[in-house]
Amino acid sequence: MTDQALRTEGLTKAFGGVVALDGAGVAFRHGQVNALIGPNGSGKTTFFNCVTGMIRADSGRTVYRGRDITRATPHAVAHAGIGRTFQLCRVFPRMSALDNVLAAVRPGGVLGRLRGARGRAEVDRARGWLTRLGIEHLVDVEARNMSWGQQKLLELAGVLMSDPETVLLDEPAGGVNPALLDRIGGLVRELNAEGRTFVIVEHNMDLVMSISDHIVVFDRGRPIAEGPPSVIRSDERVLGAYLGV
Ligand code: ADP
Repeated sequence: MTDQALRTEGLTKAFGGVVALDGAGVAFRHGQVNALIGPNGSGKTTFFNCVTGMIRADSGRTVYRGRDITRATPHAVAHAGIGRTFQLCRVFPRMSALDNVLAAVRPGGVLGRLRGARGRAEVDRARGWLTRLGIEHLVDVEARNMSWGQQKLLELAGVLMSDPETVLLDEPAGGVNPALLDRIGGLVRELNAEGRTFVIVEHNMDLVMSISDHIVVFDRGRPIAEGPPSVIRSDERVLGAYLGV
């Protein structure tokens, strides 16, 4: 067994004539905060979508903790221990924070009277995550009445309800105010210290550089550089491809 959490080999995906992933081989280590960066359109979200079984790669392989999950359904990927948030934040706007977190763990129950149908322990756990993420005061507030950053924390609370070993975050800082940004960064480090692996797609370079152990840089559907922040910061290919200098 290696300390690799998530590995892809030759992952390729084209949409019509557009090659979104071009033989991407990436390895993320277990127990680390990993970042996946790159210009718009370089394939980062497609990478997440392939890895989580939301779209099927044309070719290539995905291995998680030694297990081939290339053809796994999103449900099976989640069951294997990978949780995921979305760039456009998936919460139920007309449901309270608590009901959102409960619905995240068992989507089948959305139409039922959520709280009544749940065990006390599950409700306590949901409240526990809301508290941990600093949004316990919003427990009865509908998601649509929360700030964008609060909604992102809410989505993360739902993901954490499944106790994922690895968490993929798609632009956690996008559109979030600076105060919440610090909290999100701090939470990632805390949750990582407790043993969770992270892979984070993010454009905010201050955040990426301050919380990542390892950074992979995508350009045109494949990695062009990787390493710790100190190396990536000064890599000429990165500066050229990503920062456009
Ligand atoms: P990133 O997340 O790095 O911005 P994406 O993975 O979203 O990049 O996109 C990579 C390329 O694939 C882009 O050229 C994008 O337009 C294209 N693409 C992504 N998803 C689709 C889709 N569902 N249909 C058509 N083209 C897509």
